[in-house]
Amino acid sequence: MYGIGILKGLMVTAKNLVRKPVTIQYPEERVPQASRFRGQEFVWYVDRCTGCASCAKFCPLGIIRIETDPNGGNEQDGGTYRVDVFDIDQGRCMYCGMCVEACPYDALHMGSNFEAAQYRRQDLVINVEVLKAREKHPSTWYRPQLEREKFDPFEGESKEWQDAGREKPFWHPQRPEMLPDEGDTRPTADGEYK
Ligand code: SF4
Ligand code: SF4
Repeated sequence: MYGIGILKGLMVTAKNLVRKPVTIQYPEERVPQASRFRGQEFVWYVDRCTGCASCAKFCPLGIIRIETDPNGGNEQDGGTYRVDVFDIDQGRCMYCGMCVEACPYDALHMGSNFEAAQYRRQDLVINVEVLKAREKHPSTWYRPQLEREKFDPFEGESKEWQDAGREKPFWHPQRPEMLPDEGDTRPTADGEYK
């Protein structure tokens, strides 16, 4: 029968005419984002970082630059490295997350913000001061401890370094004042004292 193709085409038009649009008026409207979303930023905790540079070594693009000074204090415990330079060239980053996977101390996390456009490429290089000053809204990607507690980086709550790691804060060698009271014994695997 002639004209059946035209009718089929018109059916598609009619269906789409009454369908709710999937597009939204960004930036006034926003779609809900998953807490594991890997945004165009990083969350870094200076208090957790030992300056080991594992993140820089694992980055397949070599875009993380770290310089440390071994005179960072805590000499009685063998010394601590102070991180003087921590540059990430976000303009070249592919947000693969390997640097975050490589960090043994949960000091580096993927971030959740994606509105980081700049006019100049060099402004996409973030440095240690920018990283220190940023609000901490880590993505829960590759961070099971944040997943477990159902942390939502989009709720506006900033995550402090004590609560961002897999271990309890008193394990952290840079914070001897957080050691448990005398008489406490070794923590069990889940971080609680026996
Ligand atoms: S996300 Fe990937 S490309 Fe970007 S800094 Fe980390 S390891 Fe390098
Ligand atoms: S962020 Fe993690 S991997 Fe990178 S230097 Fe600090 S502790 Fe090491």
